[in-house]
Amino acid sequence: MPKVAIYAAATEPALTSPATYSPKYQVPAGPITKDDLGRATWTLLHTLAAQYPDTPTRRQQKDVKALVDLLTRIYPCSDCAKHFRELVRKKPPQVASGEELQQWMCMAHNDVNQSIGKPAFNCKMANARWGTLDCGSELACSMDGGH
Ligand SMILES: Cc1cc2nc3c(=O)[nH]c(=O)nc-3n(C[C@H](O)[C@H](O)[C@H](O)COP(=O)(O)OP(=O)(O)OC[C@H]3O[C@@H](n4cnc5c(N)ncnc54)[C@H](O)[C@@H]3O)c2cc1C
Repeated sequence: MPKVAIYAAATEPALTSPATYSPKYQVPAGPITKDDLGRATWTLLHTLAAQYPDTPTRRQQKDVKALVDLLTRIYPCSDCAKHFRELVRKKPPQVASGEELQQWMCMAHNDVNQSIGKPAFNCKMANARWGTLDCGSELACSMDGGH
């Protein structure tokens, strides 16, 4: 099936049934909730951290810091952004290696978990949870964006 058709099938239920989710994409069919947004954002951030190189370039280090900084200002949940801003001010992102960034991200997520009454995640399991990425081919999963 062509990609466009798959995407249309995933979003189509929005027109009829706000409570349903696409089984393949878990696309919320109704309004995006704070939780939907959070899960999607954490997926991006942890996946990025898991793919971040052991010896990142200066540019990659700068880019990750910039991404985190942007989120503290434009994340579209103002309470979340404020909380994240305070956290990042106290504990800036650690970007010198993949392991550092993964552990920082886990700590940051746990900080949010704690503030909203959710259990802490065992950061030793971060790589097991987020380390596998399937983009269809090894090259497509590379972080260098084709540069
Ligand atoms: C920057 C940011 C700030 C947020 N601030 C708030 C806020 O102030 N108030 C609010 O109500 N919501 C906030 N959220 C949303 C909140 O963090 C959750 O995403 C949301 O409550 C949905 O939670 P969940 O239980 O589905 O799983 P999520 O917390 O979204 O986690 C998704 C998955 O990540 C894994 N996971 C959990 N913790 C960790 C960890 N520490 N390290 C690695 N993997 C982990 C688990 O497998 C989990 O199923 C924020 C989200 C982000 C991205």
